[in-house]
Amino acid sequence: MPQGWQIRNYIDGRWRAPAADGSQVTNPATGEVLARAPVGAPEEVAAAAEAAARAYGEWRAVPPGDRIQCLFRLKQLLEEHFQEISRLISLENGKTLAEARGELRRGIENVEVACGIPTLMQGYNLEDVARGIDETMIRQPLGVVAAVTPFNFPVMIPLWFLPYAVACGNTFVLKPSEKVPLSMGRVFELIEQAGFPAGVVNLVNGARPAVDALLDHPAVKAISLVGSTPVARHVYARAAANGKRVQCQGGAKNHVVVMADADPATTTQIIADSAFGCAGQRCLAVSVGVTVGEAREWFPRSITERAGSLRVGCGLEEGVEMGPVITPASKARIEGLIAQGVAEGAAARLDGRGIRVPGYERGNFVGPTILEGLPAASDLTDTEIFGPVLSLIHAATLEEAIAILARSVYGNQASLFTSSGAAARQFRNQVPAGNVGINIGVAAPMAYFPFTGWKGSFFGTLHAQGRDAVEFYTDKKVVIERWPREWSRRF
Ligand code: NAD
Repeated sequence: MPQGWQIRNYIDGRWRAPAADGSQVTNPATGEVLARAPVGAPEEVAAAAEAAARAYGEWRAVPPGDRIQCLFRLKQLLEEHFQEISRLISLENGKTLAEARGELRRGIENVEVACGIPTLMQGYNLEDVARGIDETMIRQPLGVVAAVTPFNFPVMIPLWFLPYAVACGNTFVLKPSEKVPLSMGRVFELIEQAGFPAGVVNLVNGARPAVDALLDHPAVKAISLVGSTPVARHVYARAAANGKRVQCQGGAKNHVVVMADADPATTTQIIADSAFGCAGQRCLAVSVGVTVGEAREWFPRSITERAGSLRVGCGLEEGVEMGPVITPASKARIEGLIAQGVAEGAAARLDGRGIRVPGYERGNFVGPTILEGLPAASDLTDTEIFGPVLSLIHAATLEEAIAILARSVYGNQASLFTSSGAAARQFRNQVPAGNVGINIGVAAPMAYFPFTGWKGSFFGTLHAQGRDAVEFYTDKKVVIERWPREWSRRF
């Protein structure tokens, strides 16, 4: 970031200093202050929404095949700056460099898919719905659309929205997480180079005041949020009350069911990566392991061994397998929830509280933690911990395991590890979750599939990514035409 970590807004094709500073942006591994994040004044949001509204008429008239040329250039620029942006993600978020690279790769995938808009956005038609009458469905953009994103994927999640929105002919406002504004700030410098006309893509930094201003601004026609469930509920209700189209992805508490016939080595390896990767701060991280039958004999032991061997440290260092959590407040909250679980009767097979990482004494580290036997009535059963904590419980049968999952208030992901096709089929058919993994620990849909959370993990109808994104960012128009031959004077 050439400006020395100054957070700026990008509005109407120009960089602007924000009106007022808010919270600090810190390096989670060191506690070092990297920047001050703006609060996000309503006037800044209004300037962005109005610039986007002015740019809309011209942008929607640009042929889709020309609009996507900006995305092809953006894809190229993201590839050229791949290592630099990955380091920035790791620096401000704390995840390992390998995880940051994985995130950016999945983000770029969305840019690639949106380049297919000339095909994806097509409507359909039928001649002679009645004699001499033809009917056509066409998709048109909505106008100004906005997205509000969380801290745990600073670049990938904004790219779940931005490429599809603008490829469909909308103009766009992004409000990234105030905890991690640096990497998207850098991506916006590349967006500027990619040649989008002024006002088509705008960046407003800020916190809740900026979100509420977006929710209330009449020019904003649709809004997407990814964040915790209470915030998702708030955004969903306020956007709907203001007549906006809205999709909100919320929090999660993901279960993984381990059958006795699962392969112990790969199952353990994959589940450890899911539970402790990104320090458990993934909405698709598994946080409850349900052993079925004799899986109880080997899985608790093998997962504890694997988790205990993970190297915790600064994500930018070679060989580190798990980084810190995002803030000191997050660390305190996670350690408090571990204490609560133990007080309620769970046994800590592995306790990550109070871990020290030499050279990083001011970092927000929580070690991998495994709690066994949490009572079903505990408050923690439905509490999203969003840290490196895996709870283990036991079920006698697959049916009992599915019933446990079905009681969860969340439905973001459910995974099963087995070598039985029949068990896999029953699980994927019956489990009430949107993203299902069979022998997969993080069932993150590719960009050309929708990201399909259910229950308290999603509020809305159309999901992010792929064809759902195209549906979300367009309105359908049906034209019914009659052109009798006798009306044409010179035919
Ligand atoms: P968060 O809810 O605190 O913040 C998300 C966004 O909402 C941020 O941009 C923030 O500025 C804004 N915000 C925060 N409080 C607000 C309020 N009261 N009113 C309006 N806007 C507000 O979430 P976070 O801590 O940044 O991210 C972690 C959460 O996101 C976890 O719950 C995680 O499960 C969830 N998440 C969900 C998905 C998914 O696909 N379902 C993906 C990633 C993260």
